[in-house]
Amino acid sequence: MELTHLLAIGLPVQTLAGSPAKSSTAPAAPPAKAPAAAPKKAAASPAAPAAKAGGKAPAAKAPAKAAAAPAPAQEAPAPRNMSPANALGGPAAQKTRQLYLDNTYLFEHAATLMDVWEDGEKVCVELDQTVFHPQGGGQPSDVGTISADGLPPLEVTFVAMDKSREGVVRHDCKGDLAAWRAAAAERRAVVCKVDDTKRRLFARLHSAGHLLDVAVHDIGFRWRPGKGYHFADGPYVEYIVTEEGRKMDKDLKAKEAVIQELCEKMKELIGKASKVQVTKVDGVRTVAFEDVSCGCGGTHVQHTGELLEVTVKKLTAKKDTMRVSYTVA
Ligand SMILES: [Zn+2]
Repeated sequence: MELTHLLAIGLPVQTLAGSPAKSSTAPAAPPAKAPAAAPKKAAASPAAPAAKAGGKAPAAKAPAKAAAAPAPAQEAPAPRNMSPANALGGPAAQKTRQLYLDNTYLFEHAATLMDVWEDGEKVCVELDQTVFHPQGGGQPSDVGTISADGLPPLEVTFVAMDKSREGVVRHDCKGDLAAWRAAAAERRAVVCKVDDTKRRLFARLHSAGHLLDVAVHDIGFRWRPGKGYHFADGPYVEYIVTEEGRKMDKDLKAKEAVIQELCEKMKELIGKASKVQVTKVDGVRTVAFEDVSCGCGGTHVQHTGELLEVTVKKLTAKKDTMRVSYTVA
């Protein structure tokens, strides 16, 4: 089950918010050795072409129309299953039950304190279940609060999969360590509340990245998703491109035409307001926009109409990749 490994939760956490865009790329093939730590550098590993989720052969689709940049005829169309290299799945080992996987709009939920410990200035919290999406898969960490009767609330500043314990979500907080440690000893009941404005934005940013995969494919580009960076400070998706794609980068006119074409295709796709399908097969969570599916552990909109407007801002070619930068209205 290559995909299971590829998607294993705990695959590298992405860039820290605010730092330059360096969304990590998990090695597509050999599993598990990647720690949850944010790697210093994004290694552009070729995305496992067509992760074969559920044993389904990826269906190919003929390009709908000629792209502005001609694609070489001899090359096979990109597969419809397009897991980006940094996909973060919703897999097997979930020590902390990850409630956000089932409902993007669940902003508040009860939980039980499992453990509280100190890490420098931070008060770190483990819960039995959480509504907080940990940073990873190109999506930023949720923030919010954890509160309990009679205790000063904790401010959750960063959430990630624990580096040393598989399947455990770690909440980094600001607050009263001693009081919360005592509460953890009693396994106290708490209430988790995510900042819903940020959650909605992150879901839209991440979903826009997936819809871009659909646009790229529908237009007929033979680009394969490499990695995504769905942070508000400059979101993009990188694609592994052909020689043709790289040539196009030098042709400003062609580039402008492609940006225009992508913008129009996104508008058309958003106008369709199609339902986003989330399924789980053999512990692998798959998210499908239109008929393009991909292993993913992110929070997503329910239908593409929620994206309102996505604008492709620029294309940047680098070695074998084409970075498509976008904004969400
Ligand atoms: Zn995703």
